[in-house]
Amino acid sequence: MRLTVIGCSGSFPGPDSPASCYLIEEEGFRLLLDLGSGALGPLQRHASLDGIDAICLSHLHADHCLDLCGYWVARTFRPAGPAPRIPVYGPAGTARRMAQANGVDEHPGMGEVFSFRTLEPGRLEIGPLRVTVAHVNHPVETFGVRVEASARVLAYSADTGPSAALVDLARDADVLLCEASFLDQPGLPGDLHLTARQAAEHAARAGAGHLVLTHLVPWNDRERSRAEAAGPAACQLTLASQGLVLDLG
Ligand SMILES: [Zn+2]
Repeated sequence: MRLTVIGCSGSFPGPDSPASCYLIEEEGFRLLLDLGSGALGPLQRHASLDGIDAICLSHLHADHCLDLCGYWVARTFRPAGPAPRIPVYGPAGTARRMAQANGVDEHPGMGEVFSFRTLEPGRLEIGPLRVTVAHVNHPVETFGVRVEASARVLAYSADTGPSAALVDLARDADVLLCEASFLDQPGLPGDLHLTARQAAEHAARAGAGHLVLTHLVPWNDRERSRAEAAGPAACQLTLASQGLVLDLG
């Protein structure tokens, strides 16, 4: 399984990265976890526009889903005619919200090139990937994700405050891709995002082998995020950057 970071900027695109988007590749199958603002451009450095087999949207905040609009244009109006439909997994209401965002009628909306499927907590198979999703702790319905294939495990926090469900999803994972939007400071809201330290504490509780901090907000000092995570992290620690590739084996 291979992970490529297409976008890792927290909450809005930064000067060096789009918002959230991660490409998972296994046996030639390509899954996008999130397709946030700005991600469609650099995605094309790593996969062709026709080369995506499925998309999973963790939640419907713009920085995690909005470039599905541009991708609908690319698949619908390409010179060769509309591309085959691919599945788009997301929270309830994804098809309607995406149609509204793109200014198209709800029916057919984007349904001619995307087959929208509503996520429910539990397990599903997406191509060769065994996927488990669970609700995490964010103001809108949001799913953390565990992806398993070829005896390798990748867990993705999506956006969340402290979450026991995230620890379960990341249990013994080879890689925990975990948001770290906040730096340590008093008065942080509890049900919104994690600090880098909290991300590391989740990784340690889960027994994850490698923590990759992501959803890093442009106004934060990356090195401070690294330092705050380094205390509790008992595992390898990496800060995500646009274009980072990790082969899980
Ligand atoms: Zn969010």
